[in-house]
Amino acid sequence: MKEHLQHKVFKCISECADELGLETYVIGGYVRDVILQRKEPKDIDVVCVGSGIELAKRVAQKLHGRPQVQVFKNFGTAMVLHGDLELEFVGARKESYRRDSRKPIVENGTLEDDQNRRDFTINALALCLNKDRFGELVDPFNGMEDLANGIIKTPLDSDITYSDDPLRMLRAVRFATQLDFTIEQESYEALKRNAKRLEIISQERIIDELNKIILAKKPSKGFKLLFNTELLHQFFPEFVALYGVEIIKGKGHKDNFYHTLEVLENLSENTNDLWLRWAALLHDIAKPPTKRFEEGHGWTFHGHEFLGSKMVPKIFKRLKLPLNDKMKYVQKLVLLHLRPIVLSKDIVSDSAIRRLLFDAGEDIDDLMLLCEADITSKNETKVKKYLHNFEIVRGKLKDIEERDQLRNWQPPISGELIMKTFNITPCRMVGDIKNQIREAILDGVITNDYDQAFEFMLEKATDLGLKKH
Ligand code: ATP
Ligand code: MG
Repeated sequence: MKEHLQHKVFKCISECADELGLETYVIGGYVRDVILQRKEPKDIDVVCVGSGIELAKRVAQKLHGRPQVQVFKNFGTAMVLHGDLELEFVGARKESYRRDSRKPIVENGTLEDDQNRRDFTINALALCLNKDRFGELVDPFNGMEDLANGIIKTPLDSDITYSDDPLRMLRAVRFATQLDFTIEQESYEALKRNAKRLEIISQERIIDELNKIILAKKPSKGFKLLFNTELLHQFFPEFVALYGVEIIKGKGHKDNFYHTLEVLENLSENTNDLWLRWAALLHDIAKPPTKRFEEGHGWTFHGHEFLGSKMVPKIFKRLKLPLNDKMKYVQKLVLLHLRPIVLSKDIVSDSAIRRLLFDAGEDIDDLMLLCEADITSKNETKVKKYLHNFEIVRGKLKDIEERDQLRNWQPPISGELIMKTFNITPCRMVGDIKNQIREAILDGVITNDYDQAFEFMLEKATDLGLKKH
């Protein structure tokens, strides 16, 4: 396995380990990812039987000429940054858990002890770095076989592994999603049995894993696993509520859980943006609370876009997602998500297109991506027709945008100018005139420029009894 240790830091670590007489390995994610040829991993975990901090200092001395390392006392680890690499050193340890906490009791241990505390067989692979055993693989749980077969499996008893540190359950789903692996049956059953234990895990750690699932190439796999194991029920009940179909008088509606996942999957082919993907996840989140069966009509979800956008801050707050412009962006897309599709169904006026451009502003392209992904149906002819109409809307948006420059629209006439022109102080009339100018531009009554807007202002002000100063 020497071929996986080409990077010259390994030679350096190897020398330091031998000088200190420490049995040393590179272990975990790095080994997994180089064997899978997934990506060149940037974080390298090194474990030695002895003091990881001593080893880290020696490596820093050799690499940088001074023994400066970042020590995390609580974890007994030390980090060395080298170029874009993060080298993390730790002494091999043995962990035991009490039932009420995910904080283990830690003692020094052997490599075997250290491998036993790892979450999955594929994450427990170790490559020896000492010179006489350089590149030797230590794989006590047949992790190589699981890597080859695409299996996620805990090294020891699954119930104990998950119950000790329930975050591992989300990691199982995350790796299954990222790597497109299968969770081994026994492990899968244990997820279901232990799902409730997630309650001892902080929301910050939960959301880290969830976001990694969302950013995977095919995130819907992860959501189905989270749902079927009921892990999702522990922290995201609004999403669970999307599941299912109700039938009244022979009429059903879409299963909004699967529909949402299809939208997310479609969208994920076109964007890696976490927040746009979140907008897809939440676009129909208010369908369950707005659902009605109307006689003669069937199922309706009136106002789900409004209620949905109101639900976004509450969900963000509880899930510990940032309450900043990212949240506002998701809110906006949820609120506007029906607008482009409506335009693609009817014959559209330029005015409707202008209004959409104005309301979406710089997020118009993202909104269009979301809406296009939202076109799902079992009926392929329907999908084709809508997608075709959608292209027409795109074309129109482009034309009007070029002509009217409405993206990031700034009013051609400012409040100050209105006040100066008519010698008035701030009052409702100023706002009124500004609104009328904006509406006239959006309706196409006047063009989006200073001269026409100025003329229009004079006209409207006269109606209000104002005189030019
Ligand atoms: P990635 O870096 O892509 O998220 P990774 O497997 O490297 O994946 P890290 O969180 O960097 O994950 O952890 C490094 C290694 O530490 C893992 O490969 C695993 O062996 C071990 N590990 C991490 N978290 C846990 C945990 N909660 N329980 C047991 N072992 C863990
Ligand atoms: Mg890692």
